[in-house]
Amino acid sequence: MKAATFRGPSKPYLEIKDVPAPKPGSDEILVKVAATGICHSDIHLFKGDFGPVRQGFIPGHEVSGWVEELGPDVKNPWGLKKGDPVIVSWIVPDGICKYCASGKENYCPTAAGRMPGLVGLNGGHAEYITIPEIAVIPLEKGVDVYYAAPIACAYGTAYHALREAGVGPGTSLVIIGVGGVGLSAIQLASAMGAYPIIAVDIRDYALDKAKELGATHVINSTKEDPISRVRDILPDGADVVHEARPEPDLKLSMEVVARSGTIVVTGLGGPKSSFSVNVLPFVINGIRIMGSLGYRPRLDLPEIIRLVASGKVDIKKLVSHVYAPEQINEAYENLEKGLHARAIVKWS
Ligand SMILES: [Zn+2]
Ligand SMILES: [Zn+2]
Repeated sequence: MKAATFRGPSKPYLEIKDVPAPKPGSDEILVKVAATGICHSDIHLFKGDFGPVRQGFIPGHEVSGWVEELGPDVKNPWGLKKGDPVIVSWIVPDGICKYCASGKENYCPTAAGRMPGLVGLNGGHAEYITIPEIAVIPLEKGVDVYYAAPIACAYGTAYHALREAGVGPGTSLVIIGVGGVGLSAIQLASAMGAYPIIAVDIRDYALDKAKELGATHVINSTKEDPISRVRDILPDGADVVHEARPEPDLKLSMEVVARSGTIVVTGLGGPKSSFSVNVLPFVINGIRIMGSLGYRPRLDLPEIIRLVASGKVDIKKLVSHVYAPEQINEAYENLEKGLHARAIVKWS
């Protein structure tokens, strides 16, 4: 099968190769890949920020496709059969530990050691992927299988962060950094009834997209002072601030969050990234600062799929670029230049 395999930590990161197609293990499902997303976490991966990557590794952790073959021992709780459209979660929990039992599958220690396309398991930048069945989530009717790939990372990450931060009807929200996760967060927050939704970025193109997807206000922080603009709109500050840019620093967040508000961080930073906050405002204003990793595949993903199937979230609006497999290095170049809202690669 055709696959994009890792070359090394300098550009071009990937090469298209013909490699043997995988066979599903006993509890695995073979998925024929429709599309994969081009995600900023991949750049961290390629540069070695998550540790050394072996040559030949197949990245790609935002995957949609169709069930091709079920392994002999799959329990198949969703009743999947060949040809059913699905997405593949990069969180692959064991389903038995205390984190899984308490609904925190994204913090499952087993999942931390096997993230397809990121850690251990090959990912989906290929014509086929095998994956433990626990990570295969069915799509509903009316959800385009190609455009559904970002549900498995960008939308999932944004949705879980918003849920954990308590976003609901009437929540005032500032989103800092409107790449794939930030833009997804705007669409989802809009569907969840948040208001206002203020997007902050340094790229006019991204802010135009933010407006199209449901931001009520946009601020280019290179052209105007984001603190005074937010305070004009929300004199008391925002109930929730989502730091969705790759290098979070909490500086702006701490200036615009409301008393008793929540700052939720999804940007991963580099291996040496850190942030600091002034203790006094943090304590006297009762600020909550939280990290949020990924999503709960069996809980969050079906809820997002429902929002999409019901027409409340139009996933086609997020995808700005569609690439062929042979253009995959160009896709990552353009990602690093900040040109994408979200990009996908079509594999069939
Ligand atoms: Zn991702
Ligand atoms: Zn677990």
